[in-house]
Amino acid sequence: MTDVFADLVGQDEAVVTLRRAAASAAALLRAAAPAVSRTGAPAGGGVDPDGGHDDLDALAEPVDRPAADPGAGMTHAWIFTGPPGSGRSVAARAFAAALQCVHGTGCGHCPGCHTTLAGTHADVRLVVPEGLSIGVNEMRALVLRAASTPSGGRWQIVIIEDADRLTEAAGNALLKAIEEPPPRTVFLLCAPSTHPDDISVTIRSRCRVVPLRQPPAGAVAEVLVRRDGIAPDVAEWAAAAAQGHVGRARRLARDPEARQRRDAVLAVPRRLTGVGAAFDAASALIEAAEAEAAASVAEVDEAERAALQTALGAGGTGRGAAGAMRGAAGQLKDLEKRQKSRATRAQRDALDRALVDLAGFYRDALTMALRAPVAPVHTDTAALAGAGAQKWDADGALRRLEAVLECRAAIEANVKPRIAVEAMMLALWKG
Ligand SMILES: [Zn+2]
Repeated sequence: MTDVFADLVGQDEAVVTLRRAAASAAALLRAAAPAVSRTGAPAGGGVDPDGGHDDLDALAEPVDRPAADPGAGMTHAWIFTGPPGSGRSVAARAFAAALQCVHGTGCGHCPGCHTTLAGTHADVRLVVPEGLSIGVNEMRALVLRAASTPSGGRWQIVIIEDADRLTEAAGNALLKAIEEPPPRTVFLLCAPSTHPDDISVTIRSRCRVVPLRQPPAGAVAEVLVRRDGIAPDVAEWAAAAAQGHVGRARRLARDPEARQRRDAVLAVPRRLTGVGAAFDAASALIEAAEAEAAASVAEVDEAERAALQTALGAGGTGRGAAGAMRGAAGQLKDLEKRQKSRATRAQRDALDRALVDLAGFYRDALTMALRAPVAPVHTDTAALAGAGAQKWDADGALRRLEAVLECRAAIEANVKPRIAVEAMMLALWKG
């Protein structure tokens, strides 16, 4: 028996919080039901009578009924925080499904659960930033639609993945909606942390935070075996190598190309034999990230271009044809801009994954030099890391680890990736 929270790996505390909130939300809907649809018919696109709002307006404050526990309450705005791969968006979607569940529990089987998890529920909108940031126009349109009455009679839900990529203006547009939320609207934000760099203090102050932790490797391996049918030994290796990132662990277990890319990254420390080799390694790392990104966006890009051309072509003989032709060039340009921005993001993500793998290697060397009783991240390069530990000592291993982390920080701060990676490779070579 699996409900919507089953895929939230190693997050028991968060699941308890979300189950309580969903139960509380369902109780609120039941309390308001006589005013909304006395006959029990769904509110099918009708206007919600004002009479139904009074009970729900109380949602702006944490609700302390039906249970006495204040933590059980439902509220309008939530932030899911945690490291990449911990399941922020999985948690947000599962919670959305539980809110739309006809049983109010997130049973996993009813139409409300199904359509929410499949991304087809009419009252659940998912914002996945494709570029480097979410713009203000997108956010205004979203906030406007989120204010409408839920057609399914339950909740209007907006999930914002990577809310840390909101522009300041978009954040302000969102803040206005969160400050005066429509009675049936729920915002679910996902961000790495509640640090002011990730989410503004004012938005943070209006939201309840659900912290997710990095799931332990054992829990990740277990879900790979149970849900994806991966062999236990492969699952264990992949879970450790992915450092708690569930999606990455699955990819490593299943995709030979992902394994090859990882092997190439972990071969870097061995290859740094001189200045020339350091620059070669930098080029190879950048080009591999570009190739991986290009492959990952190519299919979507092509599908979008085809869809747009079909849409533009379809209006070709109608009365608005001339106007459509004028608009077409602009729309194609917009699409190209969006795709370019997405490609840049994909490159940075691919490069960051490589840097995280590399950091894991030097972390292994450091823990071995310190003889710390912890398991290595990369079991398959443990011998190489051990050799590094002997050669560099703890200080040298730490300096190299710091060089990788500085490279990540520099790229995040918009230093050109090639320059940051070259500086890192030279630091790794020199120690
Ligand atoms: Zn359900």
